[in-house]
Amino acid sequence: MKTLFCLLSIAAATAAEPDWTRLEDYALDLLQGYIRIESVNPPADTRTAAALFESELKKHGFDPKIYTSGPDGQTNLVVRLPGRDRSKKPLLLLNHFDVVPVDRKAWSVDPFGGLLKDGFIWGRGALDMKGIGVQHLTALVALKQAGVQPPRDIVMLATSDEETNGVYGIQWMIDRHFQEIDAEYVLDEGGFGTREILAPGKLVFGIAVGEKQTTWLRIRAKGTAGHGSQPIPDNANEILLRALQKAMSIPDKAAAHPVVEQMRRNIGVPMATNKYTNAIQKNTISLTTLRAGVGDPPKANVIPSASEATIDCRLLPGVNHQEFISEVKARINDPRVTVELISTPDDPGISNPSTPLFTALQSAIQKHHPNAVVTPMLVPHGTDSVKLRKKGLIAYGLTPMVLDLATAGTMHSDEERIPVAEFKKGIRIFYDLLKSDF
Ligand SMILES: [Zn+2]
Repeated sequence: MKTLFCLLSIAAATAAEPDWTRLEDYALDLLQGYIRIESVNPPADTRTAAALFESELKKHGFDPKIYTSGPDGQTNLVVRLPGRDRSKKPLLLLNHFDVVPVDRKAWSVDPFGGLLKDGFIWGRGALDMKGIGVQHLTALVALKQAGVQPPRDIVMLATSDEETNGVYGIQWMIDRHFQEIDAEYVLDEGGFGTREILAPGKLVFGIAVGEKQTTWLRIRAKGTAGHGSQPIPDNANEILLRALQKAMSIPDKAAAHPVVEQMRRNIGVPMATNKYTNAIQKNTISLTTLRAGVGDPPKANVIPSASEATIDCRLLPGVNHQEFISEVKARINDPRVTVELISTPDDPGISNPSTPLFTALQSAIQKHHPNAVVTPMLVPHGTDSVKLRKKGLIAYGLTPMVLDLATAGTMHSDEERIPVAEFKKGIRIFYDLLKSDF
């Protein structure tokens, strides 16, 4: 009798484990369908994407809420899974419905086909960040099916326009429905696992705890118009060229950031040398636009009276952007040139990596990647996390997949894709995290 009882208990315990084969097939299917919805931003019409998530969540016993936030179909979704201890503030899982546009000619497959080929799922948003959205949703479904209550409430927010600054997405939710998404912790995109990008030959999972400050400057030069046949000293294009050369050669005096120092110690071998590691270690400037000329198309024989460029400056957390701009102006030092700030950088600081959630993340990752180094890191680009850090939430960024350089490079680029095996493993990492203690 006792043996039978034991067997029954074992059977019950086994039954509580999610049916991973079914769940992984489900997630793959869902992601393919999700990629086929062209939720391109602009205009960030995310109604269809939100309806897909809504119906899948309802099918599995959740009660999602839909928020129409903008005039062009911008739509956000919030869903909550109650946890064991409701006195603790929730963990917010953050993902976004919108994707950046595509250059169809540059793709070898249909960017909105959700194709499975060569062990990858292909399509715009696979990496940024429909894949993670589906991992979040599937992990919630897995918890529900297994009857597992997370340690605290888990709230998932899928937003409509992360790719154009979140006006109708995260910022709209913060301004109008903050109580629905208020949390102690946030898990967003940002960090990732890699064997080559951070340290050659070593598996490192970087968890983003902070990001650089996006500081866009418009530089305008004024000169005198004239005939191209007769060169003049105050040619606006030439004034601009010299100004740009000076601005872009500002020596980077920023000290090593403490998070980068911590990364170095944790990784234990010299960091890889590439554009990504370069960007997380210093202030950077990219020349992104140039505009000049008279007429459309601009005439080759007319010297224009004005010429302008934008530079995309990314400053390390803690760097004073006003001082940086003053330095740009001082270096240019030309009354015919103006420097204008066209984005307002946010610097809410770094999220503390010494928390129970960070430890739980580390364990969940290392359960599936036993030899991985898990370290806090900075990311060079902006995410929605910055707006939540400003509200005092502890925000970490993690794509729980091991990506090689070529795959990671498809974000916002052509041939975007993720490895199927890593996509599946990422669901289990989220599941193991959400059922652990934090
Ligand atoms: Zn994204």
